[in-house]
Formats: sequence, structure tokens, C-alpha cells
Amino acid sequence: MSPSQIENKLIEPEPEHCPGPESNVAGKDDACKGCANQEICSSQIPKGPDPDLPEINKRLSLIKHKILVLSGKGGVGKSTFTSMLSWALAADEDLEIGAMDLDICGPSLPKMLGADGESIHQSNSGWTPVYVSDNLGLMSISFMLPDQDLAIIWRGGKKNGLIKQFLKDVHWGDVLDYLIVDTPPGTSDEHLSVTSYMKEVGIDGALIVTTPQEVALLDVRKEIDFCKKAGIKILGVVENMSGFVCPNCKHESQIFKPTTGGGEALCKELNIPFLGSVPLDPRIGKCCDSGECFFDHYPDSPASNAILEVVDRLRDQIELNLNSLKIN
Ligand code: SF4
Repeated sequence: MSPSQIENKLIEPEPEHCPGPESNVAGKDDACKGCANQEICSSQIPKGPDPDLPEINKRLSLIKHKILVLSGKGGVGKSTFTSMLSWALAADEDLEIGAMDLDICGPSLPKMLGADGESIHQSNSGWTPVYVSDNLGLMSISFMLPDQDLAIIWRGGKKNGLIKQFLKDVHWGDVLDYLIVDTPPGTSDEHLSVTSYMKEVGIDGALIVTTPQEVALLDVRKEIDFCKKAGIKILGVVENMSGFVCPNCKHESQIFKPTTGGGEALCKELNIPFLGSVPLDPRIGKCCDSGECFFDHYPDSPASNAILEVVDRLRDQIELNLNSLKIN
């Protein structure tokens, strides 16, 4: 039974702590007590593993590295960083890179990667992503909308269905070196769906984007807790908009003050890798708005150097993880 069929059977939306109407404990779990769907869930909905899992695993097994990009809060530049990470990895012509935009209600990667208004094509092999360069493909719900200004007002089951289709039906080519998955801020349906579908094949880990001020770091702690609960390795934290260097007078100012030590202090406290700080550069926003690669235009800027260092450290972390898995 598809997620939307399940959703149609329910008389109320699933509550926050729902174990999943198709799970083996549906209707019987402690979280189900008092839920209006309890009777339906415990009797009518077929239980057991998703029948599409083998197909999803087959697709994902062709992808060497899978990275989730997370942020506790909106507005910290997560999608901007995802686009920069994708450009940076794709600068190596020997690599094949895929970016998957799972921010279903607010997809912004097509604009940032210069693929606004494109549409996907279907072939016998599946959905073909939109290629923004020879070795960088992109998949986003935005490519499936008749009008970019339409609001997407979907409940969990429908989002889950689309994510499943993205993982099952997108043909990234024979081999993909990196799949970068941009998720919405927080920990919601999209995160639960993607982590549960990718669990069997394995995710290399999550990269968490934050800004330096405490109000953003508070939500990073929740994101870290989510990763621990979901069994996802944290590859590291990136502090974005960390200082602003005026392009004219070169004076550096702190727009978001790290009142409690910023991302680096948080990483030390929680013993997780700190991947680096990226300064605020208004030219990044300009390049993202026009879908152009920032590195091509400003290769020697402090922001370009900082992002490339973060990408190097990220790749080191992925290698470290793989090596420790081999040893264990
Ligand atoms: S009864 Fe349980 S499984 Fe069903 S919707 Fe409610 S919380 Fe979810």
C-alpha cells in the first residue's frame, strides 16, 4: 500500500511521535495511545518492510558516498552551502556528483545551480536528473511543478512518497561518486523518510550548517541528537556567515556574534569534527541568484578558500570513517 493510500485510510494526520502506520507496532505502540487512528492502524494497514526497498537499495548501491546536509534553523545558508559543496566537488572532472533537493516546500537548489525552469525527462532507466554541468546532476520537486509560484502543501505521507520515488526512480548514471542531499531545516518528515529508506545501504554521514550565534547553535544540538537517534554519523559542523570582510576597506566585522564561542566551541564540547568557518560574502548571494558558480568568478576570495578547505576536511572525514569501518 502506498503512503498516500495509507494516509487516505487514516481519519486524522499521524501525530508527531507516530511510529508509522505501516510499522509492525502501529496501533499498539505507547505513542498510539489516544490516537484516533488506533483501530485502523492495528487492523487494516498491511505491516512489514516497504516492498520498494529492494529497488531503492539497488539504485543507491550505485552511489559511492551519500551525504545529508542538515541545519537546525532556517536562514543559516544551508542550501547555499549545498550548492557550493556541489560545485566544489564537481570541479574535479573525474567525479560524478548528484545533488538532491529534499526541501520539498521550499526548493532553492535549481535557482542556485542555474537550473531554474528546467524539467526532468523519463526514460526506460528512470527519471533523468537535470545536468547543470557535465558531471553535476540535480533533482528537485521544482522540476515537476507547472508553476514555480505554487505553494506545496503536503502532509507527511505525500512527502514520503515523493522522496521514495526520488530514491527509487532517479537514474544518476552507472556510478555516482557523491550524492549531496539538501534537507529542510529542523527534523521533520523529510529527514525521517530519507534516513529510513537509506539506512540499509548506508549514509556516509551528515554535515550540519550553522551560524555562530547561540540561538542557531541551540537548534544544532537538536540536530546532533536527531543524528544520534537515527544512527547517522556526524561528519562535521560548518559555521557559515562567520564574520564579514568588507570588499572595499577589508575591515572585518561580526554580523552574528559567537557569544558562546560559536560552532567550534560547540564541536569541542560535544567531541564532533569542526569543518571550518565560511565568511559572509555578498557576492555568494549574487552568484546563487544568477545560478553561477562562485568559485569560477572569485576563485581567490577568502570565502572560496574557506569553502574549499571545508570540502577537503569533509572528504578527509569520509575517508576516516571508511577506514575505521574497515578496521572494525
Ligand atoms: S495509531 Fe499509532 S501508528 Fe497509527 S497514526 Fe496513530 S500514532 Fe501513528
